[in-house]
Amino acid sequence: LGEFGLIKRIRSRSLMRHARVLLGIGDDAAVLRPSSHHTLLTTDLLIESVHFDFSLSSPRQIGAKAVLVNASDIAAMGGTPQTVLVSLAVPGPTPVKQVDKLYTGIIEACHEVGADLVGGDTAASPGPTFINVTMTGVVPSGCEIRRSGGNPGDLLYVTGTLGDSRAGLSILQSARKGRHRSFEQYLIRRHLRPIPRIAEGAILAKTRSASAMIDLSDGLSSDVIHLCEESDTGVRIDISRIPVSEQFSAWCRRTRRKPGSEAIRGGEDYELLFSVRPRHEAKIEKWIRTGGLSATRIGFLTGRKSGFKILDERGRLLPLREEGFSHF
Ligand code: ADP
Ligand code: MG
Repeated sequence: LGEFGLIKRIRSRSLMRHARVLLGIGDDAAVLRPSSHHTLLTTDLLIESVHFDFSLSSPRQIGAKAVLVNASDIAAMGGTPQTVLVSLAVPGPTPVKQVDKLYTGIIEACHEVGADLVGGDTAASPGPTFINVTMTGVVPSGCEIRRSGGNPGDLLYVTGTLGDSRAGLSILQSARKGRHRSFEQYLIRRHLRPIPRIAEGAILAKTRSASAMIDLSDGLSSDVIHLCEESDTGVRIDISRIPVSEQFSAWCRRTRRKPGSEAIRGGEDYELLFSVRPRHEAKIEKWIRTGGLSATRIGFLTGRKSGFKILDERGRLLPLREEGFSHF
């Protein structure tokens, strides 16, 4: 098929829905009309055997996830995804079918997050497969939510539930024979198919309700420190408030793990962690009660000197250790 045949196929499958996109795949560069909003840019590099494994997930799932994790970064700024560029390096002998399936996932996820695939690059890799996704998004001018905007006394919230993805990966890696139980299937899906919290991030930005925000990719216990360091604050997290799913609780019971400490270590949760000034508390709590926002208050920001602390199940105030995933 060759590189050009492949690009032709990708081009025929890509849609352009944003009026801002004047030109997509096929020329030397894509063309975008200027926008009154601010533009967000983000990129993520995924390497076979480091970030994904063809023995644990299908090409379609890997393609989708590569797009979804970028959308989570756009969501963490309060933005909405708009365009995607994909650079792909696959080993020479890779069957076209496999690349096609990867693009099925990429294109599905683009639809899901409302982004247009407008270009990329393709090469043969002498080693593993590399997938690099670059995404642009938009946010109302001046409304982007940075990591650095937190203040001592701000309340700390997290969307969704934590720990599911980590549990799902652990189930996949254990390679037990036979069918998975339904709670295991749920956790595996949460690992393979992150749900970027785009609507949640966008409403917080538009209404200027969050002072600081980050998405949880490495795990709460390490990502919260990134937010605090940028905001120059400390933090206190109440472990008994960490939201977990029923399925995660079932898995913890079966494997004799402590749900709280397991969930804060997390990893690849792709939920949003955000701080809220006390004057916005009532509004946020009301959104949560009325189902407009799926989030839970888990603690508050403190002065830098108070450090990073966790209140454990027995009421002890302990130092929060960075236990998330680290590449180095
Ligand atoms: P160039 O040699 O100028 O880099 P290419 O032949 O690589 O041009 O790309 C031709 C067109 O196809 C460009 O619009 C490029 O963005 C697009 N393209 C190339 N590879 C991919 C890919 N893997 N996914 C999406 N679009 C791609
Ligand atoms: Mg090229």
